[in-house]
Amino acid sequence: MKKNYLFTPGPTHVPAEVALAEAQPSIHHRTPQFSKIFKELSEDLKYLFQTKEGDVFTLASSGTGGMEACVVNVLSKSDKALVLCAGKFGERWNEICGTFGVETVTVDVEYGNAVDPSVVEAKLNENKDIKVVFATQSETSTGVLHDIEAISKIVKKSGALMVVDTITGIGIHKFPFDEWGVDIAVTGSQKGCMLPPGLAFVCVGPNAWPAIEGSDLPKYYWDFKKMRKSLKDATTAYTPSVSLIVAMKKAMDMIKEEGIENVWNRHARIGNATREGVKALGLKLFAGENASNVVTSVVAPDGVDIGAIIKKLRDESGVTFTGGQGEMKGKIFRIGHIGYVDDFDVIVAISAVEKGLCESGFPVELGKGITAAQKALVGNG
Ligand SMILES: *Cc1c(COP(=O)(O)O)cnc(C)c1O
Repeated sequence: MKKNYLFTPGPTHVPAEVALAEAQPSIHHRTPQFSKIFKELSEDLKYLFQTKEGDVFTLASSGTGGMEACVVNVLSKSDKALVLCAGKFGERWNEICGTFGVETVTVDVEYGNAVDPSVVEAKLNENKDIKVVFATQSETSTGVLHDIEAISKIVKKSGALMVVDTITGIGIHKFPFDEWGVDIAVTGSQKGCMLPPGLAFVCVGPNAWPAIEGSDLPKYYWDFKKMRKSLKDATTAYTPSVSLIVAMKKAMDMIKEEGIENVWNRHARIGNATREGVKALGLKLFAGENASNVVTSVVAPDGVDIGAIIKKLRDESGVTFTGGQGEMKGKIFRIGHIGYVDDFDVIVAISAVEKGLCESGFPVELGKGITAAQKALVGNG
């Protein structure tokens, strides 16, 4: 027997309540029963995004589908966009824009760092014709958190629209859509929302609509105008992902019961304890002071085959961490702690790190990381 521990930044653990809700027999989507659930969920999602002014659309896709939907709806062929790139996911915005032939300007920072808001301001001053800025709240590939509040303020001043990938931000870090003046934000189901993969949620604020109505990029399925019309009738234009929507309603009940501020605080406590545990083992955090509470990215110590350690822990102990993506492969490993996580998950994760390193011959004092994490959790750190 082997128990599975998923410490990956998506997919994440699904609570039993949510899995059971998903397992109910399907209902038909053109019925009052479904419309009632969908209407309630759409209101709950506004709470999740902390918006009164925005509409939240539920898309049958993973997060990237939601990102593509943002691009094809908010931009036109002759527009220019500014993309903030601090890792794989920032680069994805740029790739999607490129796919649709939209000209982009980028801000690129070295992996492990965050984009400095003042650099965004300088780029916008140099390029007065920027129509949309694409940002990433939590760059999951490096474990870095961005100051979306500060960046959004700067973007607002320039008159451009602010679009944010908050796929590992929502339900983990504070993200008040209205208060921060964000125009469009996208998240996915398998990260902070505690669901299996398969849904994307896109929040569209009032200021984005003129651009959406004027957009000439090709789209049929991803059309926000159709989604807005259907949402008013508490339905979707095409067959929705009924079971995942029923499950998401359950997950939202859990989030509302805990309270969104408490959800953020729980992730802050767990993120902090994980970082303390890692540091106590003499390991270096890859994201330094910009570390998110989503995923702790750790520099792989010299002389250690981190890929082999990750594989051994996964196959023999049922503990899944992830390595680095792209050029970070073999250089870092990442401990995800999002969604359905509590304090004791940190202890399991850190003890697995200790075990993996110890068995590979790397000198670790067993228990040192766990002690530091435990101290941080009980407020004695
Ligand atoms: C996971 C993730 C994505 C991609 O989402 P998929 O669901 O894999 O399509 C995009 N951006 C960020 C920040 C992510 O963490």
